[in-house]
Amino acid sequence: MTRFIFITGGVVSSLGKGIAASALSALLQARGFTVRLRKFDPYLNVDPGTMSPYQHGEVFVTEDGAETDLDLGHYERFTGVDCRQSDNITTGRIYSSVIAKERRGEYLGATVQVIPHITDEIKDFIKADLDQNNPPDFLIIEIGGTVGDIESLPFLEAIRQFSNEIGKSQTLFIHLTLLPYIQTAGEIKTKPSQHSVKELLSMGIQPDILLCRSNLPIPQDARKKLALFCNVKAECVIPASDVDSIYQVPLNYHKEGFDEEVLKYFKINPKDHPLNLECWQEIDQRIHHPKASVKIAIVGKYSGFPDAYKSLLEALVHGGIANETKVSIKWINSEDLEGDALSLSDLFKETDGILVPGGFGERGAEGKIRAIEYARVQNIPFLGICFGLQMAIVEAARNLLKLEDANSTEFGPCKNPVVALLTEWEKDGAKELRTGQDNLGGTMRLGSYPCVLQKGSIISDIYGHATCINERHRHRWEVNSHYKLQLESAGIRFSGESPDGKLPEIIERSNHPFFIAVQFHPELKSRPFNPHPLFKSFIKASRTHKLNKSGDFK
Ligand code: GLN
Repeated sequence: MTRFIFITGGVVSSLGKGIAASALSALLQARGFTVRLRKFDPYLNVDPGTMSPYQHGEVFVTEDGAETDLDLGHYERFTGVDCRQSDNITTGRIYSSVIAKERRGEYLGATVQVIPHITDEIKDFIKADLDQNNPPDFLIIEIGGTVGDIESLPFLEAIRQFSNEIGKSQTLFIHLTLLPYIQTAGEIKTKPSQHSVKELLSMGIQPDILLCRSNLPIPQDARKKLALFCNVKAECVIPASDVDSIYQVPLNYHKEGFDEEVLKYFKINPKDHPLNLECWQEIDQRIHHPKASVKIAIVGKYSGFPDAYKSLLEALVHGGIANETKVSIKWINSEDLEGDALSLSDLFKETDGILVPGGFGERGAEGKIRAIEYARVQNIPFLGICFGLQMAIVEAARNLLKLEDANSTEFGPCKNPVVALLTEWEKDGAKELRTGQDNLGGTMRLGSYPCVLQKGSIISDIYGHATCINERHRHRWEVNSHYKLQLESAGIRFSGESPDGKLPEIIERSNHPFFIAVQFHPELKSRPFNPHPLFKSFIKASRTHKLNKSGDFK
């Protein structure tokens, strides 16, 4: 029997419902239960694929090629359970589906309304695509937005109906809220949370557990007050104080009794399901007691906006965990590298590795190419991801093959299109490539694709001598194979390709300490307890580079 846990947020946005849902799931898993996680987003976009990273942060891509909210990245990182297309539902998708049904006449002449048609559709999505033979013990659903928003009303109404229909014994409502500290009063304030709960109550939802964010310890009397005014048990007011690493959250929640209260709510005796938190303790230990440190320069366009690179930043932390190394980031806006004013050696002085991440569009591309050239010439460890690989190809073509007009056709036509749309250089390939992906709304290569690794290559070593790997993609342009031979003569080894040999997937240089670029996004599959091998090796190489630089290591 699946139990349903709904997580809503109150008072302000950005309280970390995604982390809360993920950390609770990790605790339930640590007691031997199976979990799945879902997110309902109240905006009208069908998915976040078309939204600017400035608006929405990173687009997280699942194995099955769905473009989803970045919180799904947290779900996967904390639980190791792969999310699917059906795990992120937006108002846009609900409405599209209802309107399509209406056009097909499926409502048999009825007036189509928010209640019951939209709410019914939401309720169908709650239970959609669950393995009937092996349903999860817990399904945790995060409701995006903040209680009180007009947009989220249909979702709140739907979960109220759902709980009523399926029974309170099988559904739990958790409300994540903020207790602000008012300096002049010297007090933590509960009033905004009381109002937020009142708002929920007006929609017929009584939260069972309050999870309270605050940057100071919450005194007992504040907990009692909240319990009294919000009609919850005092032990169900759980403090969620700020921590310096998100991977500490499961341990903290457990200390505050969160998982026990959840189990007790469902009448499960916690003693019958002993907890094993060893792996989280190990991660915590490694994060808080590193043996070394490295600084990685990320040369990108959204440098002031870390949410745009969420999975990447986490994957670097994981690479650090694997090497017991603290990884700090130096953000470099690639456009800043385009003028002559800045000296690259000054800019990269203290960096031990250079990473050029995924990206779209021409703005800042020349700066990325300069950063790659600098990494290549100065023997600084370099990792290129997706756009980073494409720009590494352009760099080699221009600077080593002297094809001065080499470029990606993403920025317009050029004489030497070393990176181009498949349709531009491979007439028949495109259709084949997009098989099964057409209905995902775009022309991108999305989701998991296999890649064959060349025997004896550096990358095959990194992947533990695997011959074929699967990694997630999100891009339109491809390295143009027509230039392969020429690029090989410039020292580039094409060490990973699609199984049919048509699409270059990985390049590497052997005459360099670490120079690897990949067409896929390895960061999407990295987990704290299972760091991605590429990030593990990149951090290791950066650490070696730092030691070599300082001269105390040969
Ligand atoms: N803009 C490039 C493409 O579409 C790279 C995309 C990316 O880095 N995710 O192919």
